[in-house]
Amino acid sequence: MRDELIAHEATVLLVDDEPTNIQALAHLLRGDYHIQVATGGAKALEIATGDTPPDLILLDIVMPEPDGYEVCRQLKADPRTQDIPVIFVTGRNTTEDEERGLDLGAVDYITKPFTPTITRTRVRNHIDLKLKTDALERLSLRDGLTGLPNRRALDQRLTEEWHRAQRDGTPLSLVMMDIDHFKAYNDDYGHGAGDGCLRRVARAIAAVPTRKADRVARYGGEEFIALLPGTDAPGARAVAERFRATTAELGLSHARSLTSATVTLSVGVATRAPASDRAADPGSLRDAADAALYAAKEGGRNRVVEADPI
Ligand SMILES: [Mg+2]
Repeated sequence: MRDELIAHEATVLLVDDEPTNIQALAHLLRGDYHIQVATGGAKALEIATGDTPPDLILLDIVMPEPDGYEVCRQLKADPRTQDIPVIFVTGRNTTEDEERGLDLGAVDYITKPFTPTITRTRVRNHIDLKLKTDALERLSLRDGLTGLPNRRALDQRLTEEWHRAQRDGTPLSLVMMDIDHFKAYNDDYGHGAGDGCLRRVARAIAAVPTRKADRVARYGGEEFIALLPGTDAPGARAVAERFRATTAELGLSHARSLTSATVTLSVGVATRAPASDRAADPGSLRDAADAALYAAKEGGRNRVVEADPI
C-alpha cells in the first residue's frame, strides 16, 4: 500500500518568507515528494487553488500580510482547498500559538528549529492519511461492478451543473435508461451473466456522449443515467436515441425478453432551462426524465420518450 501511495507522487507546498527555511525543508523532503514553493501567502493561495494543488502544505506563520494564520483561514474557507492538510512550521512555540493554529484547522504544528527525522515522519503520516482519504473518496463515488460513477456522484454533479446552467443561462438535459426485462434475464441466465450484461451495456453507453462535461452513471440495479450539460432538447433526444441503438446493436441474447430476442433499453429524456424555469429544481428534472422512462416502458420498451417541456 505504501509503495503504491508514494508512486502516486504526492506534492508538498512549502510556504515561508525566508528562502533559507524553504531550502532546508526542500532538501529534507524532495527525495520523497514533488515540491512546490511560495515565499508569500498570496502566492501560496494561488498555487493551492491552481491546476495542480498540493496534497499537504507546510505553512510559516510569521510572514508579511497575509500571514500564515490568514492563509490557513482562507484555505479552510474555500471548498477547493479546505481538504488540503496544513502543518504550521514556526518559531513561535507557546501553547496559545499552537492552539490558535489548530483552531484554524491545521492538522499539526512543527516548531523551528525543526528536527529532520520528526518532521519527515509527521509529513509522511499526514500525506499517507490524505492519499487514503482521497482514494476512499474516489471509491465512494464509483460503482464497483461497472466502474462508472455511481448515484451519489451523479446527484452531486447534477446539483453543480444545475447551478452552473442557472448562472450561464444554458439548458441541462438528463437521460434515464433501464434495461428491459432484466429480471427475466437474471432468472434465465443467472446473476453472473446478469453482471456481465450490465458491464457490457455500461461500457457501450459510456462511449456514446462526446462532450467533456457529459456524465454517464449507474443509478442503481439495471438503471443508468446520463447528465448532458449545455444540451438542448433536440440534442438530448439524439443522444438518447444513440444510447438505445448502441445497446440494441450489442446483440446480447435475451430469450425471455418480451420485447426483442436481444437486450434492449428503454429511455426517458428531459430538458430544462434552470435560468428561466424558476420553479424547477434538480429533483424536478430527474422526476420528468423518470416519468418519460416510465412512459417508454408503458409504450412497449426499446424506445425513447421525451418529457413535456415545462
Ligand atoms: Mg517567517
